[in-house]
Amino acid sequence: MKRVLIVGAGLTGSIIARELAEAGVPSLVIDKDNFIGGLCHSRRDEESGVDVHVFGPHIFNTSNERVWEYVQKFDRFAPWINRVKASNAKGVFSFPINLHTINQLFGVRLTPEQAVKFIDEQRDKSIVNPKNAEEKLLSMVGAQIYETFFKGYTIKQWGVSPTELSPDILKRIPVRFNYDDNYYFSRYQGFPMSGYTQWITNILTHPLVEVKLSTSYEKVMKEEFEHVFYAGPLDEYFDYVEGDLSYRTVTFETVRGKFEQQGCGCMNYSDLSVPYTRAHEHNYFSPWEHHEKSVLIQEFSHESTRESAKIYPKRMEHDMKVLAAYMSHVEKEEGVSFIGRLGCYRYLDMQQCVLMALDYAETWLKWHSGELLNLPKMPNEV
Ligand code: UDP
Repeated sequence: MKRVLIVGAGLTGSIIARELAEAGVPSLVIDKDNFIGGLCHSRRDEESGVDVHVFGPHIFNTSNERVWEYVQKFDRFAPWINRVKASNAKGVFSFPINLHTINQLFGVRLTPEQAVKFIDEQRDKSIVNPKNAEEKLLSMVGAQIYETFFKGYTIKQWGVSPTELSPDILKRIPVRFNYDDNYYFSRYQGFPMSGYTQWITNILTHPLVEVKLSTSYEKVMKEEFEHVFYAGPLDEYFDYVEGDLSYRTVTFETVRGKFEQQGCGCMNYSDLSVPYTRAHEHNYFSPWEHHEKSVLIQEFSHESTRESAKIYPKRMEHDMKVLAAYMSHVEKEEGVSFIGRLGCYRYLDMQQCVLMALDYAETWLKWHSGELLNLPKMPNEV
């Protein structure tokens, strides 16, 4: 049997390689970069010894038992709760919005029940079906919270007005009427203790998986393989014939000092006057280690170019039209599946990548063995 080719040694591609290998299907995994892990890549900082999440913080979280069990097969996970602070002209606040934030911002001492009533009075009730991110927030929490915590941050993050963005970008952000300041709702949360790069290396370590780094995909390669799983940018695969899909990229500036410079892992900067969106002191992401020196990394969001790391799919109205045009090419492309955040042009967090990769590997194996008649060219949404 010929091998399959997996383009991209990120989380999705690596899990598909592993699952196919477990079922006896050999693969070659290539990556244009000289490192493993894609956007999950982590690397030890030479000066401080701290393991840094190179493309921004990755905090693994899930409520899915299957996902949680799977990821722990390849490393021990240390528990962690992401407790974020938001800094702006009015002070430093507990975030995401919870009872503490409400009491801090409005200088009150409300009980949960009183806070529900209070926020209800702030809400713009004339907005019934919010059409964009601004309307969503105004209808959920009112103008004062929106302007203090979301407006400036969102403009910095996405480079457009919140009125142009889908309400979906806020799906992950809770509003709570108790003192729970956990950023996520997930039942399980934590970090692989050997670091993300080692964790993904462990996933790829199997006699039926070969990995070649610094290797770009060329269309001619397709002929040599049983099937191609492509996790690179969708528009690039089709030579941008339908135009570019837009992304935001992030650049990082490192501030060095003595641990603790910031006092928490993650600080969001809500105001436009601070040019970065957030800063992370990566030392906090491995609390089982001790380092004297600190690595504080500020994140600056920009429009991405064809050459820059594509981090956030923007999925603006125009992009969705371009995506629809590419989907007709996808349907016609034989022997190729489009996977992962870039291949599907979807914002996927790590747990979605894991679930999607597991499901899709299973589907592909059934299709390959003849049990299933048709193979979807892209994984279903999870
Ligand atoms: N957001 C905001 N203020 C914050 C944090 C988030 O306005 O302090 C908005 C912003 O538009 C962001 C979205 O909520 O893009 C989703 O935030 P999340 O922290 O989930 O983004 P990610 O971790 O994916 O960058």
